[in-house]
Formats: sequence, C-alpha cells, structure tokens
Amino acid sequence: FVSLGSNLGDRAGYLRDAREALSALPATTVVAASRVYETAPQERDDQDAFLNQVVCLETGLQPLDLLAECQRIESEHGRVRTLRFGPRTLDIDILLFQDAESDDPELTLPHPRMVKRAFVLVPLADVWEHARGMPDMDVAGLGRATARDQRVRLYEATEG
Ligand code: AMP
Repeated sequence: FVSLGSNLGDRAGYLRDAREALSALPATTVVAASRVYETAPQERDDQDAFLNQVVCLETGLQPLDLLAECQRIESEHGRVRTLRFGPRTLDIDILLFQDAESDDPELTLPHPRMVKRAFVLVPLADVWEHARGMPDMDVAGLGRATARDQRVRLYEATEG
C-alpha cells in the first residue's frame, strides 16, 4: 500500500499522474485506489490543505526498488525537498509491503507514522479489503479514532 499526497498546484492532477506512473512500473499493477480526501496539514499549519489517496499495488519489484521508483516519480513531478513536513507537489510513501518489517531509516516498514495519521488511515480503510499477507490491523477503527481530531473530508467520490 502506497500513500499519495499533494498540496501545491494541480493537486488532483499530481495524484492522477502518480497513479499512472505507478501503473507503468515494471511488473506492477494498481489493484485499487481509494477515494480522494482533503486534509488539513499536519505538523506545519502555514500551508494549504492536502489531497490524499492510498493505492494498492501488486508488484514484482523489491521494496527498495519500489522506493527508488517512487522517489523518481516524485522528482519528475517537481518535488523539491525544502521544509520537513512542508508543502510538496507530490509525496509518495510506502505504507506496507506485505508483512515486511524494517527499521532501516531509508525504508522503514510499516511506515512509522501511518497508525497516527487519519489522512493515511481513512483512505487506507477504503482499499484494505485488498490486503494480502499484511499485519492484522483494525484500519477502519484506527481511522475513525484519529479522524476525531484530524480533519479529513471526502474530496471527490468518483476519483480513482
Ligand atoms: P519524505 O520527505 O517524508 O517523503 O521522506 C522521505 C525520506 O523518508 C526518504 O529519505 C526515504 O528514504 C525515507 N523513508 C523511510 N521509510 C519510508 C517509507 N516507508 N516510504 C517512503 N520513504 C521512506
């Protein structure tokens, strides 16, 4: 499961481009895409709202190769790393790669902040039925709990 986020420029267009670029990766299929949500920025509130989405991929790529591809897609879409937690045209994070666990700072799995973030959990719940071999997690329950104090609203029901 991969999360997509954008809060600069044509936000929905960046998410669409990301989905297309992911589905064009070797040995990779986009199995499902969540609805798109608009969320208030976390950590830094001096920036515009994000659009967030989670996609489920089936891939023959190894985790670090998938990460490298995600970073290439980010940089091809004008991502410039300036402020940590600051605005970005396109952010792609790997949330879960089946049941892989890693504390490597280059690729930490599961993504270390995912269980605290409504903007990840709420869209993840949309596509969680496609989980295969993932840890047993109450994603919908965690999503509801975190969404009590983090604003997440449906952006476009037909997107995806
Ligand atoms: P960010 O600026 O939030 O996109 O963070 C990017 C950095 O996080 C990169 O240096 C990645 O190597 C690292 N990273 C660690 N774990 C992950 C993960 N699960 N998904 C994406 N990037 C990760």
